Amino acid sequence: MRRGFILFLSLFFLTIQVNAFEIVMPADKKTVTSNDYAFIYGKANSAETMTINGKSVHTAPNGAFAHSVKLIDGENRVIIRTVYGMTLYKYFKTTPTEQEVPAEEFEPVKAYVNHDGTPLRSTPVDAGLNRISHLFGGTHIVVNGSKGSFYRVYLSKDNEAWIAKKDVTLTDEDFYPAEFLNMDSERFKNAIIQSISFSKKLPYTIEDCEKEIVFRVYNPELSEESVYNLSIPKPVKYAYTIELDEGNYTFKVRKLPENIKDITVVIDAGHGGSEKGAIGCLGDEEKDINLKIALKVAELLNKHNINVVMTREVDANVSLEDRVNISKEKCADIFVSIHLNSIGDIPMDIHKNRGTSVYYFNKNSKMLAEVLQREIVRHAGTHDSDIQTGSFAVIRPTDYAAVLVETAYMTNPFDSVLYTNDKWINKAAKGIAEGIIKYIKIKN
Ligand SMILES: [Zn+2]
Repeated sequence: MRRGFILFLSLFFLTIQVNAFEIVMPADKKTVTSNDYAFIYGKANSAETMTINGKSVHTAPNGAFAHSVKLIDGENRVIIRTVYGMTLYKYFKTTPTEQEVPAEEFEPVKAYVNHDGTPLRSTPVDAGLNRISHLFGGTHIVVNGSKGSFYRVYLSKDNEAWIAKKDVTLTDEDFYPAEFLNMDSERFKNAIIQSISFSKKLPYTIEDCEKEIVFRVYNPELSEESVYNLSIPKPVKYAYTIELDEGNYTFKVRKLPENIKDITVVIDAGHGGSEKGAIGCLGDEEKDINLKIALKVAELLNKHNINVVMTREVDANVSLEDRVNISKEKCADIFVSIHLNSIGDIPMDIHKNRGTSVYYFNKNSKMLAEVLQREIVRHAGTHDSDIQTGSFAVIRPTDYAAVLVETAYMTNPFDSVLYTNDKWINKAAKGIAEGIIKYIKIKN
């Protein structure tokens, strides 16, 4: 009897100990990282007190928790403790030695851009919002310096830019300036098109100014200054494109349609298939929640007879390139990518790192971001984490108004209560759909 009771007790504790908490992140007991913070999240029994390295951690009613620990160089021990369980995680922090690469100057050399869509940047860094334009393959450029993996591009006396070394081929050909051929302008009901031709492909920049969009072509091989400026006034809701055929540039600024029946909306459910996206505190996969919201948004828009195109309707892999290609082929006016957020290498604040943020990259998409931000927060009752800029491939095109919605945080305990509830999924979808409709109705 007594022995049986002890056996029962030890089995009881053994079971509790095993089930006391489930850690989603980190995946392993030992992690080697260069991050400044260890981000730990998962599911615990919400009735139990949980501590991580002695600090008590808040658990949501569904058990979700998230916490971060500042790491020091070398070995770090993270102890997660509840009443019945304790687990040790080890982090080994390495600090990469960053050496400042010196800039190099050299005599001007000719080069060719290797492929279409090559970013021309304002700084020699492959990140952020420093893209000035996307050059076409075969564009003739002049480089006169380098820094790290970038060449400095000479555009004119007062203008320089940076391009990745891997994206260009240097040549020792002689310099011969392009010949200006002609210029033209056409006005249509919903668009203005300007064109400019040269005897070869030249670099360009594009600037979205307060009242107009300014397109500049540079003739860098000319000994004297030579910049060609074209500018088109912009409507309230607009999109623009640059095309290059041989040396002929076509620069088009169009008004987004005013009639709801003429609008095409692309709804893009983020990730899919083997691309799971962020994993939530309870182990949910972002791709599934994105798709649920996206399907509901499409259903709501269809009720208003809006032409909706979805980049995926099932759990499948779709490349970022295909998502953009589908949108361009279908002549999208509005593009909305649906995601849920997760935190990066920052200290987790469960009261702050949560809720909705709508991201945009180009200025022509800012108004759509603002309207969606307001409507999602209003309908879904999420924390307002404000609109943000972000360089995501799917929202970089200027061919339509494009935003990426981070509806809530996968890794926030409070938000995990929301996104695991189908009623909330419907409310979030309603906010997105209402936002799109409100944006369409803004007078142009
Ligand atoms: Zn995502």
